[in-house]
Amino acid sequence: MSSKQALIVWGGWLGHQPEEVAAIFRTVLEEEGFRVELSDTLETFADEEKLKSLDLIVPVWTMGQIEKEQVEGVSKAVQSGVGIAGCHGGMCDAFRTNVDWQFMTGGQWVAHPGNDSVEYTVNIKSSSSPLLEGIDDFGVKTEQYYMHVDPAVEVLATTRFPVAPGPHSLNKAVDIPVVWTKRWGVGRVFYCSLGHVASVVEIPQVKLMMRRGFVWAAEGKRRAEEAAASAAKGSAVEQGAAYTGMGDSQL
Ligand SMILES: [Zn+2]
Repeated sequence: MSSKQALIVWGGWLGHQPEEVAAIFRTVLEEEGFRVELSDTLETFADEEKLKSLDLIVPVWTMGQIEKEQVEGVSKAVQSGVGIAGCHGGMCDAFRTNVDWQFMTGGQWVAHPGNDSVEYTVNIKSSSSPLLEGIDDFGVKTEQYYMHVDPAVEVLATTRFPVAPGPHSLNKAVDIPVVWTKRWGVGRVFYCSLGHVASVVEIPQVKLMMRRGFVWAAEGKRRAEEAAASAAKGSAVEQGAAYTGMGDSQL
């Protein structure tokens, strides 16, 4: 039996139904063999040693204010191999003023022209990742997230703008990432921009993508431990030398 351990930290703006979304994620994770702990305080993020004992961190927190020791706790845990996976504003509009969080997660929401009644297509990309294999392009009616994205991410799905008119429209068509992965230290990062409310997370394709993302991100922990075990070989980068450049955003 698996002894994978996941932590869901939920809260922030209630319009995103964080408690309901956290409950869905909990069920998905338990179905995948995780032991799941829920927390409704960001103080949990300050316990670096505890976080490092996990396989997966799932933030479900929109428009919050994160403290220095909290973002550093998460960052160092992920650098050590703990996965982080989340969706929508719960991960990439979590802490607008914290660039360390954004550097780690790979993007930040900036707009959703047309609000939550936009009908658009999620285009699944062919990529080197098997994460979205077997999932076809699908349509949704919800917020279409226009995001500022780290060019280092591997994009697994996109959506084409503009659909709803806005100040971006004259820039012509642009494909904005919907699903991506990236690395942070030796940890794995997974993000999906869908998930405005619980009913969107329940869309079969969305739920499946999150399920696979959780499992994939958590798997990075085992890989990191194996790499550490065969220690000596491997550069500092491969070993995930702790990033200490955080600070400029922590005023
Ligand atoms: Zn939203």
